[in-house]
Amino acid sequence: MGKRAIYPGSFDPVTYGHLDIIDRSSKIFDEIIVGVLNNRQKNPLFSVDERVSMISGLVQKYPNVRVDSFDGLLIDYAKEISADIIIRGLRAITDFEYELQIAQTNRVESGNLDTIFLTTSLNYSYLSSTIVKEFASYGADISKFVPEEVVPLIEQKYKNMR
Ligand code: ADP
Repeated sequence: MGKRAIYPGSFDPVTYGHLDIIDRSSKIFDEIIVGVLNNRQKNPLFSVDERVSMISGLVQKYPNVRVDSFDGLLIDYAKEISADIIIRGLRAITDFEYELQIAQTNRVESGNLDTIFLTTSLNYSYLSSTIVKEFASYGADISKFVPEEVVPLIEQKYKNMR
């Protein structure tokens, strides 16, 4: 049986940083499930269905990547889909403390689920969905941060808010 990994996140919106992690992990693991978190505490720009369809369109070229959504605990979802490994991206030292806590808690709670961290490619190390949204909200050019298919979707959201 091959290794099935889950790459969880909010992906609100998906950026080149996320896609870089998907690209690299698709070469390491047999199967990747991109798990879009339906986070009730956050007030997302895109609905979970919008995020799933946005990412699905961008990962069609990978036969071993599929996109799904989940809510509740990541370890429960991982068990449900029989994932062996969690993938997370690490940008800067600021990500580290939180990610370490979550990874260790998940391992203790689940008994066996390990988290593998991929460090970002240098050119995306500064990128976050939050910053992309902040720039887009002021009408700035975001074409260096997200794929061209995603740019108009974000712009439209902010146009509707003005
Ligand atoms: P969260 O799960 O905290 O809501 P995101 O949806 O923004 O976060 O990110 C999902 C995963 O992708 C996390 O592991 C995060 O560290 C990683 N990630 C976010 N931005 C980048 C980037 N620019 N390069 C690499 N990994 C990233």
